Amino acid sequence: MRSKPTVIAEAWRLVLLALTCLVLGLSLGNGQAGIIVGLLLLSGWWGYQLKQLLQWLEQPMGKPAKAGGVLGLIVDRICQLQRQSEAAQLQLASALVYLQDSLGSMRDASIIVDAQDQIAWANKSAEHLLGVHHPQDRGQRLQDLIHLPPFTAYYEAGDYSCPLRIPPSTDGEPCLQVEISRFGMGDRLIFARDSTESYRLEQMRRDFVSNVSHELRTPLTVIKGYTQTILELGSLTGGPLQQPLRQIDEQSQRMETLLIDLLWLAQIESIEGQGKTAVVDVVSLLVDLQSTLQTAWTQRDIQLEISTERTVVGDEVQLHSAFSNLIINALKYSVSGPILLRWYELNGIPVFAVSDSGVGVAPHHISRLTERFYRVDKSRSQRIGGTGLGLAIVKHIAVSHQAELAIDSQLDVGSTFSLAFRQSKQ
Ligand code: ADP
Repeated sequence: MRSKPTVIAEAWRLVLLALTCLVLGLSLGNGQAGIIVGLLLLSGWWGYQLKQLLQWLEQPMGKPAKAGGVLGLIVDRICQLQRQSEAAQLQLASALVYLQDSLGSMRDASIIVDAQDQIAWANKSAEHLLGVHHPQDRGQRLQDLIHLPPFTAYYEAGDYSCPLRIPPSTDGEPCLQVEISRFGMGDRLIFARDSTESYRLEQMRRDFVSNVSHELRTPLTVIKGYTQTILELGSLTGGPLQQPLRQIDEQSQRMETLLIDLLWLAQIESIEGQGKTAVVDVVSLLVDLQSTLQTAWTQRDIQLEISTERTVVGDEVQLHSAFSNLIINALKYSVSGPILLRWYELNGIPVFAVSDSGVGVAPHHISRLTERFYRVDKSRSQRIGGTGLGLAIVKHIAVSHQAELAIDSQLDVGSTFSLAFRQSKQ
């Protein structure tokens, strides 16, 4: 640090100047006047230097005027800060170019949008995937350029916790997977990926399951038909064949239920992305369901508690399926105690909940219950007629209705399965 010696030297210069002026003043007969003239000259010199410095600060082009002493020190420090800031700016600019280069070379489309929804930057892939051209479209509103209704709805809703998948509406169009993240002061970074290949594979898998299920249903119907006919012929059923025939009948019944569930799941999946417009009167749906199930399970007590009239935009058949799967599970996995069905509002969101005081589920199983064929106790589930697909069906129906499935369970105490419909009608 050379500021301390400079300040000391400056102080000495001042003392020297004052002494010189005093001596000169005394030699002319007025020492005080000599000091005042000296100080005036010094202030004038400082004023001139300060003016030069201010001019340079206003337009910092070229080198500043040479200044000595403390002022020179200040100028040196400003120059040093300026050099540091220029170096930092250069570093920042090259980092920005590097970042833009890396985003630009991506096969995924990336677009940066500011807080006013105006396009700030886009890479090359955004041209063919989303029709956004950079720099021609800079400053345009994103919604004016991308005319994909699911995208606009997703972008404007502002909930980007899950990516959006936009299936192709016509053959030859790509399937898009879109992710949005926020940064800065309300800016958004949009990534869109061509996921046509995985969409195609998934569709092939779905078609395969659906076709196999269809194909198996015909021979199964024949087997079931013959078994039942033979069972009905009293002369044959009385013999040793009775037991195996009953087992064939039971197993073919189980297989048929499984095929029906598999076909239903494939159907729900195939129309998952389609928007739903029908308004479902959940109250009357639940009243009907409660009465039907109570008639079938006479020995059990199914209670219904309704505290909201809210409707849901969706598919009535699917909602009926989801609700009945949850209620039947509650009946199957509890031996006694009432089953409580509730339709209520929580923080403005309508919720359907089913509670039982049955076997419950240990915490480590809960996150896996909605996987296909996942059962906590396989033999018990098979014994009571489960296919292992019920909760997978519920989960898919929840997704296609933008509902959230929550499972709250305690082993040997009971469970509550609930569906919260985030986008329901008032
Ligand atoms: P399943 O046809 O076997 O009932 P589900 O997909 O409907 O298949 O359920 C998956 C598993 O979740 C069941 O095997 C069971 O272990 C558990 N489960 C579902 N509902 C309940 C419930 N209400 N209480 C306890 N366990 C349940």
